Amino acid sequence: MFFPDTENSVKLGREVTEDIYHFEENPMLDCNQFIINDKSTGELALFDSGNGLSLKSLFEGMNNLGLDYRKITKVFLTHEHVDHVLGLYPLIKTLKSNPPELYAYGETAKILREGIESKIFPGNLGISPKMFGLEIIPLDVKILNIHETINIGSEFTFNIYYTPGHSQGSICYYESNKKILIPGDLVFTGGSFGRYDFPGGSLDALIESIKFVNNLDVKYLLPGHMGISDNGNPQIDYSYKMVQSIKSFF
Ligand SMILES: [Zn+2]
Repeated sequence: MFFPDTENSVKLGREVTEDIYHFEENPMLDCNQFIINDKSTGELALFDSGNGLSLKSLFEGMNNLGLDYRKITKVFLTHEHVDHVLGLYPLIKTLKSNPPELYAYGETAKILREGIESKIFPGNLGISPKMFGLEIIPLDVKILNIHETINIGSEFTFNIYYTPGHSQGSICYYESNKKILIPGDLVFTGGSFGRYDFPGGSLDALIESIKFVNNLDVKYLLPGHMGISDNGNPQIDYSYKMVQSIKSFF
């Protein structure tokens, strides 16, 4: 196993703004995770599941903030890649007496429902589920629609936007009142943006998708990797300029 020992580590977590928490990605092939606490019911909604190896460290990080992982009742996925979805398999095993509902859009939902390993492990990353001690099995995933909104408690209402370019199944979750964008691997802080060279990726689509979210009013930018920001629009704009400059090379 070439992955670092994440079994005994703790995912560093902090409250971003009221009732939404960020848990930092572990070093290797993991992702940032976000949790919304519905105070009225005590239920928790998780955005992206990490790589599975990091699940215990997420639970530890949650525990440090007084959040009980057994209260996770919903998991929302941004896209189909290994570092975002693999944690689903151990999570549903762990919570088997009261498994959370899983939600995804389009290709992501299809890939998870059918258990298409080659699309969860894109390109030639040289890794397999065995390295994570897992087997890809079909999952009972509910399908999100683009025009529906997701309510988490009475405080959070997310729109879903289809934003391809990094992968075929990539979506963004946007909360307009609180100005929160959860863009998966579309756009990162510091002028970075998602890879477009995996199967199903497209530079043109990535540019269009970043342009689209650049027109949203975003304070909290909560991407799948690297840091988060409470200065969202200037960050997205920076990435938009950077991705356009890449395009001008071709
Ligand atoms: Zn990805």
